[in-house]
Amino acid sequence: MEETLVLVKPDGVARGLTGEIIARFERRGLQIAGLKMLRLSRAQAEKHYEEHTGKPFFAGLVDFITSGPLVAMVVRGESAVKVVRSMMGATNPVEAAPGTIRGEFALAMSRNVIHGSDSVQSAKREISLFFGEHEVLK
Ligand code: UDP
Repeated sequence: MEETLVLVKPDGVARGLTGEIIARFERRGLQIAGLKMLRLSRAQAEKHYEEHTGKPFFAGLVDFITSGPLVAMVVRGESAVKVVRSMMGATNPVEAAPGTIRGEFALAMSRNVIHGSDSVQSAKREISLFFGEHEVLK
């Protein structure tokens, strides 16, 4: 069993896609082990995206992810990191396969609806930024 961090980004929340996204994970057989809505501070956003510090899109990414409420969840299941990434589709929605979340609901890289951890190691780090130990149910 793996756990991964999923964010419905502010564009996804504003467009009312949260329920659709949660339903897809549940129907696939993944469990929601933690769930909250929050608005990130710039410091939290910079920490979450620290691997992108200094890249040309970094400031815009931080502006966007802090622009409104997002929904954070811990998704658990067999190979959850990989399964969630494949259900999300490619980072650039123009390249995302039809049927994936980005492939159905997004067109712009800077408004691509969802985040999912890219490895078990980054999932551990990212979950600890968003959830306390007692907020993730076993
Ligand atoms: N991003 C962007 N422009 C780029 C690359 C990335 O706006 O040229 C944004 C995009 O929203 C992406 C996020 O930065 O989801 C994090 O990038 P990463 O490469 O980690 O993609 P992800 O893991 O989200 O697919």
